Amino acid sequence: MQNDPVCGMEVNEDTKYKLSYKGKTYYFCSPLCMAEFKKRPEKYIQH
Ligand SMILES: [Zn+2]
Repeated sequence: MQNDPVCGMEVNEDTKYKLSYKGKTYYFCSPLCMAEFKKRPEKYIQH
């Protein structure tokens, strides 16, 4: 399982809502969270 970086929910890796950003893959619970991440990725990335 992975954590959705936007809402914190656990997400299965086989979800279709995923996206690569700066060499790392992020998984999302819904298209809404994915869209939110795309808008402001830096807000959601753990540094
Ligand atoms: Zn979410």
